Amino acid sequence: TPYLNTEYIGRKILHFDSIDSTNIKAKEFAQRGEEEGTVIISEEQTKGRGRLGRSWASPKGEGIWMSIILKPNINPMDASKVTQIGAAAVCNSINEMGIDALIKWPNDIVLNRKKVCGILTEMSAELNIINYIVIGIGINANIRKFPEDIKDMATSLKLEIGNTISRKKLVGKILNNFEELYNELVNNNSISKSLNICRKKSILLGNKVKIISRNQEIIGKAIDITNEGELIIETENGKREKLISGEVSVRGL
Ligand code: ADP
Repeated sequence: TPYLNTEYIGRKILHFDSIDSTNIKAKEFAQRGEEEGTVIISEEQTKGRGRLGRSWASPKGEGIWMSIILKPNINPMDASKVTQIGAAAVCNSINEMGIDALIKWPNDIVLNRKKVCGILTEMSAELNIINYIVIGIGINANIRKFPEDIKDMATSLKLEIGNTISRKKLVGKILNNFEELYNELVNNNSISKSLNICRKKSILLGNKVKIISRNQEIIGKAIDITNEGELIIETENGKREKLISGEVSVRGL
């Protein structure tokens, strides 16, 4: 792609017509020694997944279904930081195309309050060593119609702005943004640039939110995102709680 300015992210892109899931494929490649930065893209996923095994609609030719293989030398406990980097990179890239997308912490990008992108980070680690991380990015770029069960919560860039967007251009921008933000993690063990974007573009901060965490419902006001990427919410009784991305869903926006 002529839009790519990276050193190592997306220098090798493996493009498929139809696979079960780009994350599954990326994990297979990573397991077999594929190097950091390789990207798996598919026109269609037959078994696209969100968090907790929830299915992710990935129809042919209209979306961006891709996964990036990463091998960062960081603590496995910090793996969720990669999700924040991905969210910041995708949101920035969509914004660079002139579209006002926002981030719904921790792993979704929304446009006009509906989901246009989901991010799923998966890791393989032994003891305190990361073997690899794959970050899956699913973007509803030019999808024209959604299944009945998700049509109220999902949308595409095309449906919202009214014209077809260049998937190649958007992929190029995402990989460029991703490399810049990911380098901060690898070189300085920091994600401050990503978090600044996540805070500035957050659809949650300052608003009342309903959080489902370990089957419990917490209602409160979203106050801030910490330097570790956790969400701070203040409940009715003034108590502040720190939520780690892995275990929560934000509902009823
Ligand atoms: P959550 O944001 O609730 O944690 P996930 O990130 O796990 O959800 O994503 C899976 C959910 O996203 C599905 O249960 C479904 O409701 C919704 N979904 C599935 N496919 C799409 C899609 N292409 N675009 C937007 N939302 C989708």
